[in-house]
Amino acid sequence: ETVVPAVPPVAGASLRVPLVTGGDIGYANLDHAASAPCLDAVRSAVDEFLPWYASVHRGAGFASQVSTRLYERTRGVLRRFVDARSGDSVIFTRNTTDAFNLLAKALPRKTSVVVFDSEHHAALLPWRGPNVRRVQLPRTRLAAVSVVDEALAECPQGPRLVVVAGASNVTGELLPVAEIAAVARKHGARVALDAAQLAPHRRISLRELDVDYVALSGHKLYAPFGAGALVGRSDWLRAAEPYLAGGGATKLVTEEAVVWNSGEERHEAGSPNTVGVYALGVACEQLAAQWEAIGAHEAALLERLRKGLAGLPGCAELRFFDAPVDRVGTVSFVVDGFEPGWLAAVLSAEYGIGVRDGAFCAHVAARRLIREAGGEGQQAVRVSLGLGSTEEHVDRLVLALRQIVARGARWEYAKVDGRWAP
Ligand code: PMP
Repeated sequence: ETVVPAVPPVAGASLRVPLVTGGDIGYANLDHAASAPCLDAVRSAVDEFLPWYASVHRGAGFASQVSTRLYERTRGVLRRFVDARSGDSVIFTRNTTDAFNLLAKALPRKTSVVVFDSEHHAALLPWRGPNVRRVQLPRTRLAAVSVVDEALAECPQGPRLVVVAGASNVTGELLPVAEIAAVARKHGARVALDAAQLAPHRRISLRELDVDYVALSGHKLYAPFGAGALVGRSDWLRAAEPYLAGGGATKLVTEEAVVWNSGEERHEAGSPNTVGVYALGVACEQLAAQWEAIGAHEAALLERLRKGLAGLPGCAELRFFDAPVDRVGTVSFVVDGFEPGWLAAVLSAEYGIGVRDGAFCAHVAARRLIREAGGEGQQAVRVSLGLGSTEEHVDRLVLALRQIVARGARWEYAKVDGRWAP
């Protein structure tokens, strides 16, 4: 028997959901990679903060001072969370998508961008134009580093940026970020890390990885209050046009001219998401204090899940790399003869299990991996583990899949608006 260590508790542990077959059951949330449940500690911190919540950077009132102090303090929390260099900017955004769109707008003119086609759309699409090179992620980590090396060698002179995810949202596999960063340095390129799927599971060090920027989302970090962050080198950000034009980003506005702020506020026009930012900071502090327990909890559950899926007839896991690599608790698969959307609907309606189906906002990657796994179209099932996951959830999923594969669903399902429903 594996011993699963205690990890910080999250909301939803006592949630019950109705079953189409009658009665109700404890909800098994196996969809942490989409959005993670709220940490209890985040919820109570937010509850405590709400009476003090007021505008930041705008008022002299006591509550405004409290809010401003917590908001500004959180920049330091984020800087420590990703082990940033002193002098790095911490810009609060809505999420990872917002962070990369901000960075894309802040790139110096004619920056060449190298990005794997396997990336989440948030990391794939913000970079546009003739200077973007999309490269296919090959089947070994070593080859992945070489592909970046070759692509950078072909870039014209000028600024260069490599964009790479820390962990794939499709397969959970970790990408060779430090090795890619070393190659990027050789070519004078910068590296932007998409940490949306890595940050909830592993300690990140910008310094050790030698990465220039990192983007992350609060809702995947157990702080679902609508804030995210971009952390990284200040020079390009200071020199860039403000991401949004408006109040808060300016030092002085006259009839003739605007003087923009040069610090982080330059890119934070409009009243910021003070509550979300505070929640994000609390989550980061909670996770940073518990990496060992989190790692052990997720590794034990992942092993249990993979053993269970390995014994499932017709089940093929999606993977980028031929050899097993370090990974977070996210597993996507197809089951021969079963439509992923239908499987997900049955798991929900008859077993109270929440999983994701589809192409996971990584259409290029999903299509390729599904084809390689023997599936059809661009749909798979994704199971993703996190702090709300238990052995019972994993066991229930594996048993449910075995039963469904052996005898089909107990209920009739029909497609309603393109989705299967009982
Ligand atoms: N990158 C990865 C790897 C992701 O998994 C996600 C979310 N699915 C994103 C970026 C985008 O995150 P958000 O939707 O919070 O902007």
